[in-house]
Amino acid sequence: MRKKIVAGNWKMNKTMSEAELLLTEIADALDDVELDNAEVVICPPALYLEMATDVAEEANFYVGAQNVYPEDSGAFTGEISPMMLKNMKVAYCIIGHSERRKYFSESNEFLMCKVDGLLKNNVRPIFCCGEVLPEREAGRHFAVVKQQVEESLFHLGQDPFAKVVIAYEPVWAIGTGVTASKEQAQEMHAFIRQLIGEKYGAEVAGNTTILYGGSCNGKNARELFSQPDVDGGLIGGASLKPDEFMQIITSL
Ligand code: PEP
Repeated sequence: MRKKIVAGNWKMNKTMSEAELLLTEIADALDDVELDNAEVVICPPALYLEMATDVAEEANFYVGAQNVYPEDSGAFTGEISPMMLKNMKVAYCIIGHSERRKYFSESNEFLMCKVDGLLKNNVRPIFCCGEVLPEREAGRHFAVVKQQVEESLFHLGQDPFAKVVIAYEPVWAIGTGVTASKEQAQEMHAFIRQLIGEKYGAEVAGNTTILYGGSCNGKNARELFSQPDVDGGLIGGASLKPDEFMQIITSL
């Protein structure tokens, strides 16, 4: 049975002391929650990964990075490698987020290299895909997501693919307060699962966790997560507010 996941993407937010407080608030709140076949992942800025993995040792969450460079080491000033993440007990890494595609021109091909680097080091990619508004308005959203998934993931064999988590994040819903409707989320998630089924078979497709991301909050999470192909969420803004983040987790 596939795992449900709520992952919090803190983006470029929080000072060190604020991050420490938020981590401990979430860790304490998770002590009172029974997670059934579900995982919580916290993705703080890279500077706080070590602090997060220290807190996670005694807590019921995993730590994810927000970015990685595909090489294990070398002359890549400013970058962080998959090997370093593994070394720091980071279990997940977000890749393909629309902000990285937009501001850092990350291509499907480059993301394919990141996927390979992470999997080689046993760090699970949370692979983001999703269309921008003009693409949806032109009826191209399925084609766009298909291309993103195929070009960055479908070179993988069945076993490595099984370690990948997918996050469908319609770009028009990220940070805008406009959420995809439950029908829009479900039809895209079902479409992605169908693509996976055609490539890797029904069992792999059925076991793949597909998250929804885009203005998911304490109020709409339960409705979105109740859809049969929505296996949790990748949460931006609301993951910075411990009470609301917990409300989302308990909506699983
Ligand atoms: C995100 O950045 O992945 C995200 C979903 O952001 P928000 O929840 O703020 O829309």
